[in-house]
Amino acid sequence: VVRRGASGERSYDKLLGGLLADGFDERSCRSRYQSVMYRRRPGRRPPAYLVSKLRQQEALQRRCGPGTAAYGHALEQLRSGKSGGDTVGAQDCRYLVSISYRGLGNRILATASAFLYAVLTGRVLLVDPSNEMGELFCEPFPDTTWLLPPGFPLASYTNFSISTAESYGNMLRNKVIRTDAAGDVPAFLYVHLDHDATEQDKFFFCDEDQRVLRNIPWLVMRTDNYIVPGLFLVPGFQDELGRLFPEPDTVFHHAVRYLFHPSNHVWGLVARYYDAYLATAQQRVGIQVRVFGSQPNSPELLEQITRCTQKEGLLPEVLLAAADPVAPGPSRKTKAVLVTSLKSWYYEKLKGMYWERAAATGEAVSVQQPSHEEFQRSGARSHDAKAWAEIYLLSLTDALVTTAWSTFGYVAQGLGGLRPWVMYRPDNETHVPDPPCGRDVSMEPCFHAPPFYDCRLKRGADTGKIVPQVQHCIDMSWGLKIV
Ligand code: GDP
Repeated sequence: VVRRGASGERSYDKLLGGLLADGFDERSCRSRYQSVMYRRRPGRRPPAYLVSKLRQQEALQRRCGPGTAAYGHALEQLRSGKSGGDTVGAQDCRYLVSISYRGLGNRILATASAFLYAVLTGRVLLVDPSNEMGELFCEPFPDTTWLLPPGFPLASYTNFSISTAESYGNMLRNKVIRTDAAGDVPAFLYVHLDHDATEQDKFFFCDEDQRVLRNIPWLVMRTDNYIVPGLFLVPGFQDELGRLFPEPDTVFHHAVRYLFHPSNHVWGLVARYYDAYLATAQQRVGIQVRVFGSQPNSPELLEQITRCTQKEGLLPEVLLAAADPVAPGPSRKTKAVLVTSLKSWYYEKLKGMYWERAAATGEAVSVQQPSHEEFQRSGARSHDAKAWAEIYLLSLTDALVTTAWSTFGYVAQGLGGLRPWVMYRPDNETHVPDPPCGRDVSMEPCFHAPPFYDCRLKRGADTGKIVPQVQHCIDMSWGLKIV
């Protein structure tokens, strides 16, 4: 939000309507307060109730976080394997450890999901520091750390998987835990909500199972998904979610802007690139071309990109080679196109197209791509820093085109508050989908591996039809998203 001060200078709402806490050292994390100067659109305003809940969560993180007496006590409990009774006192601290793995987009969706679950259930969120989580992002909570310190008693937690005996699904299956009888609760439990989660694992999204989980001091969660649409299916969370997010399509938008601030190194990549290549254009269009290192360059995909952008009026058509170029003039409009991809071929073709031919609108079109890393190398420092910078740059555009199924694009759209045009996934690699793309129904990410179970009726169900806020995604028909 840009306001004019008494003397006419621009002033910015650096705290994004109270979403961000005041009092951080600005130099240690420049992006936190500078990013607002790079956004043309102010983003959606956080509701007052959400703001107060975030301040409460920050207080909880400080009271119970690493280094506190409460944290030491909770670690002791975990080492002893006892939960200290079957009900937890209001003063006791309970924790959620989120495992960080896979690509950067997946990691951000997983962490944002864990955060929202922690807020809903009054848990302290601690993030596994693997894969550069401490290097890429600033600390989101003032005067404490969200990174799980070394020496965590569950030494092999990063290897927890579908077959871990302590997973909620396996404990249910093996009747170590039951939802219909009170009993001793363990000191910790593993919540497996990965793409391969079983039906039992996904009972997580049922009320009676949440009642069991509530009293367990330590939960360790693995997901590579945005599970929040599933939380909207849990009746016990619905009232609170409604108060926190009266506009349900803003859940991820608020969560991602609250939690993920590029570290100073990454912010340098973002700001220098923006200032040099994007700042002066009248309009910025982002095109995210998700390809895999092993795929050959695809003329069909290139055609899908041009058909989509021209049909939707995002990029101009080009004149025939022989046609008269439009005379240059001072009023010529400028458009900067930011392409992100592991490969440079698509960018080179687009750039060549607008160099060799004149735009039918007379616009001057520049096409840029910050990097082409060729292969995915998640966890490698400079690779992940570039990926994060490019996600962020995409979020600073005025119109965004994304690739179906990609969490990389989901993060950009949420940060930017953009409802993207999604390029559909072709059924067959040699065909350009028709239509090539469609406008997404909301800026929320798609939950790729949702439950297909109605907890109340205790049978399989179409979970896209249970509550009005949760529907199927346009890029993945079985996925769920908040609208
Ligand atoms: P998803 O696999 O598309 O859902 O997205 P992820 O972000 O989870 O994983 C893809 C990873 O591949 C990224 O995190 C990057 O490491 C790399 N990658 C994919 N596309 C790009 C790109 O356009 N630019 C850069 N720099 N890296 C990319």
